[in-house]
Amino acid sequence: MNATAYIGLGSNLDNPQRQIEWALNALARLPQTDLEAAAPRYRSRAVGPGNQPDYINTAARLRTGLEPHSLLRELQALETARGRLRDQHWGPRTLDLDILLYDQLSLADPELTIPHPRLAERNFVLLPLHDLNPDLILPDGTALARLLAQADRTGIVRL
Ligand code: ATP
Ligand code: CA
Ligand code: CA
Repeated sequence: MNATAYIGLGSNLDNPQRQIEWALNALARLPQTDLEAAAPRYRSRAVGPGNQPDYINTAARLRTGLEPHSLLRELQALETARGRLRDQHWGPRTLDLDILLYDQLSLADPELTIPHPRLAERNFVLLPLHDLNPDLILPDGTALARLLAQADRTGIVRL
């Protein structure tokens, strides 16, 4: 249990609230991992192609002994278990689990980029992260609170 990882959770298909509930339970049961905290949930308008249902988003803080790529594989297995299809880029999905932060690690390879590359521009990521830890500093030194202060708050409501 030597790293703190923040996970972004999202769903906009097949009862999103239940998908998120299921995912949080599943995260708590990952090997070598404790679920330390889950943020409040947010409802937000979908970005991406077509006219998609609203999203439910939240974030979770894990304490984990899994290395980043092992953690990614575990998350992808959970998505697959919920029937996630990978047909359309940014299409609707039952469950999306992204690694947002992993300690102060900066990493970019073909499979995995940490911090998540679109974290700073997404209010549905910044808001629940801030709920979990208002003092978070990104590996590049940017304060999460500063990003949130600049973020657009339209199209999102805290549940
Ligand atoms: P976005 O990345 O914009 O949130 P998405 O979540 O819809 O889009 P997916 O189809 O779920 O994208 O994932 C595409 C690929 O992104 C995955 O196969 C994975 O290898 C890669 N990836 C890179 N960095 C990360 C990360 N930090 N967390 C999760 N997946 C990542
Ligand atoms: Ca995503
Ligand atoms: Ca994803």
